[in-house]
Amino acid sequence: MWMANSDAHRPTQIQQHDDRTLAVDWADGAKSLLDVRALRLACSCAACVEEWSGAPLLAPDSVPEDVMPRAIQSVGRYAIQIEWSDGHSTGIYAFERLRSLADQGLLSRSEQS
Ligand SMILES: [Zn+2]
Repeated sequence: MWMANSDAHRPTQIQQHDDRTLAVDWADGAKSLLDVRALRLACSCAACVEEWSGAPLLAPDSVPEDVMPRAIQSVGRYAIQIEWSDGHSTGIYAFERLRSLADQGLLSRSEQS
């Protein structure tokens, strides 16, 4: 059966798993555990990443270790927007990017912390 990626990679549920982790259930049955600070650092909005060069503008040190999502809302049918406890709320996370980062393990908790 053919299925559009945008459907398979749509989150069906996003829950706070614990203080540091969001649990995402995907439409294709996959599940991901995302470290919330890694997710904050992965923000790709114009304030965090320079638009024309892709250079990171966000200094990881400026993000509190205990940063947490305060609110998560859907944006259209393709993304979520997260309001963070550090006051940042302009970041939009497209489902496809979120899934791809999750599949690459880039949003997993770092071992040393
Ligand atoms: Zn941002």
